[in-house]
Amino acid sequence: MFYNSRIAKILLPKSKTAIMLLGAVFFKKKEGEVSGRMKRHEKIHQFQYLDCFFVSLIPAVYLTIMYGIGWLLLPSSLFYVMYLLEYIVSTIIRALTGKKEWNGAYYTNAMEMQAYDLESGGKEYEHLGWFSYYGKI
Ligand SMILES: [Zn+2]
Repeated sequence: MFYNSRIAKILLPKSKTAIMLLGAVFFKKKEGEVSGRMKRHEKIHQFQYLDCFFVSLIPAVYLTIMYGIGWLLLPSSLFYVMYLLEYIVSTIIRALTGKKEWNGAYYTNAMEMQAYDLESGGKEYEHLGWFSYYGKI
């Protein structure tokens, strides 16, 4: 985890305080200013990223052998692909069903739901546990 990060300050809008990139977390604030809850939230995204990385590693090697070198990007990008696809699907479903406000898709993303559920502590992280949140829009 990196605090008082220039990367976070450049990449994030004013309302956001942290970003997880390729398994590393960058905070805008200094270490003493970041709450334990926020650190746990981002740690959960790190675990989710690593789950996606290792789950896709063997398929990526197979796909690389069969179809080309581009598939080697799969492990490092799967977390972001799944996150983005779910955000899009969630936004569409919410719009079609008239559920709440449009930006609520962020809070109905399964990976965010798991992170918000576990950030207060007490419950352990379950590998690929965010799958249990699918369908709870
Ligand atoms: Zn989050």
